[in-house]
Amino acid sequence: MPIKSRIRTVPHYPKQGIMFRDITTLLKDAVGFRVMVNDLVNHYTGMKIDKVAGIEARGFIIGAALAYQLGVGFVPIRKKGKLPAETVGQEYELEYGTDKIEIHVDAIGRGEKILLVDDLIATGGTAEAAVKLIETMGGKIVECAFVIDLPDLGGRKRLEKLRHKVFALSEFE
Ligand code: IMP
Repeated sequence: MPIKSRIRTVPHYPKQGIMFRDITTLLKDAVGFRVMVNDLVNHYTGMKIDKVAGIEARGFIIGAALAYQLGVGFVPIRKKGKLPAETVGQEYELEYGTDKIEIHVDAIGRGEKILLVDDLIATGGTAEAAVKLIETMGGKIVECAFVIDLPDLGGRKRLEKLRHKVFALSEFE
């Protein structure tokens, strides 16, 4: 398991009781990084994808490498207030309160086939917000890709209920 064994678990981060799955140990490892990107490239080669959209911040690292290898463009979905030109935004629920992600209004054209990428899916709230943004712009979600799925938190099911396909390279409890 070249991927899963290279992901570090940090107990009680960012707060007591949370087991944080940390991909920095995967990324710093030349073999791990290459296998991670290649596994995604192999899965998506031959699928018609116009752009990869990555969610800040770890989705940028994975999504940019994948977009480069697939020979398509990369679109950043950022936390509020970070993008310089005109944006559209989408709020989503956190455990306490809400947050907002944004995308440039000219980032995605009507009918473009988009692959959404992030490091991890937990409740799916972040990914669902990103999906809504992409669809608001007229983009079609080809699939949502993650390095880690936490199935117990229900994110995959949440996206699948919305008729989106989910692909993950590893699962943790
Ligand atoms: P969700 O919205 O509940 O699915 O949470 C997913 C978002 O929170 C993603 O953007 C992840 O990067 C981040 N996240 C949640 N838990 C972890 C973790 O254990 N490790 C790394 N990122 C996490």
